Amino acid sequence: METKNITEELFDFIDHSPTAFHAVENVRRRLEEAGFERADGKDAGIRQSGGKYYMTRNGSSLIAVSLPKNVRKLSGLRIVASHSDSPCFKIKENPEMDVEGHVVKLNTEGYGGTILSTWLDRPLSVAGRLIVEEEGEMAVRLVDFDRDLCVIPNVAIHFNREINKGFAYNPQVDLLPLFAAKEGEEKDAPSLKSLCAKEAGVEEERILASDLYLYSREKGRRMGAIGEFIGSPRLDDLQCAFGSLKGFLDAQGNGGESKYGAVYALFDNEEIGSGTKQGADSTFLSDAVCWICDFLGLSDGEKRALLEGSFLVSADNAHAVHPNHPEKSDPTNRPFLNGGIVLKFQGSQKYTTDAWSAAVVREICRKEEIPCQSFANRADVPGGSTLGNLSARHVSIPAADIGLPQLAMHSAFETAGERDTAYLVSFCRAFFAGR
Ligand code: ZN
Repeated sequence: METKNITEELFDFIDHSPTAFHAVENVRRRLEEAGFERADGKDAGIRQSGGKYYMTRNGSSLIAVSLPKNVRKLSGLRIVASHSDSPCFKIKENPEMDVEGHVVKLNTEGYGGTILSTWLDRPLSVAGRLIVEEEGEMAVRLVDFDRDLCVIPNVAIHFNREINKGFAYNPQVDLLPLFAAKEGEEKDAPSLKSLCAKEAGVEEERILASDLYLYSREKGRRMGAIGEFIGSPRLDDLQCAFGSLKGFLDAQGNGGESKYGAVYALFDNEEIGSGTKQGADSTFLSDAVCWICDFLGLSDGEKRALLEGSFLVSADNAHAVHPNHPEKSDPTNRPFLNGGIVLKFQGSQKYTTDAWSAAVVREICRKEEIPCQSFANRADVPGGSTLGNLSARHVSIPAADIGLPQLAMHSAFETAGERDTAYLVSFCRAFFAGR
């Protein structure tokens, strides 16, 4: 029963998070409903008993902090990090491209390592943020058209007999979405900017700049003989962003008694290497740790002691064994959908997990009766990167890389296990509560 409700909530969360900006807004709203306050401008050194705060950066990354009532007993921070962005297409400046006076297409570029073919022939929409001039100030407005606005049509097989023979799509040629029809000689098609102005309720000339993205309109759904699989856009990494948030909020009940401060971190730009001011490779997490220490009035020595007792879990989805390509997975570390949380290992430590941190994660799973699997890349496959080792560069504490098993990572429609989100919620609830 709980699993079904969690799945519905997950689908709703993803549906309302078409971009990283919207994901952060979605998380911020849930935090405020749970009594969290924005941390910006709070006096340092108050040494209050307990507290629930959050901070954002660029509107696309967020860190929330829940401190226990008795801060003198505080022995460390328990941090779970996930990412808010997913591979997609960014709409370029001056996007309208006229096609022989009849239709308009949009100029775009890839964002992250997308499986390109999955974006064709499906309804797409546009969302992102506008920077608008408001009484001489710059203000941010989020936009989400939330309707079928664009499509990237394939070339008919009659014009491209190579399409089923491993065709290489050219993103500047093959992946530009059809946007509007021109209605007759004198009537121009509306510009995307004019539609944005209408959608945001501002005058077009007051839109100073924008970050706009295409996103898939596909809804999350259950699949399989008894609904044991789920399919949705952006499962990487909104499944972990949602699951860890739910565990974080669930732990609030007994968080006050915990000896740990709970930290929920959601970073943008993982899909493009995390190297932005709001990415996992920025100072955002270390700045948040400094904020916590200042807020609690900790000395440098106390701060070092706090970090010594801290632990970071990086939660980013993992590759399950593919039913059509089982040979792609490592011979002895083979995660399956619905098999539970995946601990990721790599000798060169692109994944931060080591024996000690793996044991910490496995002990929580054992006590909470959560299934736990392991993942390693084949020795002849380089594999991807994630958040853990980048965050650890800035806040050097013990860390483990985990994820939920999925298929078709970076497709516009990814597949995962129906039961696994609930396992992550249970894990995070126990981890944050200090069990
Ligand atoms: Zn990811």
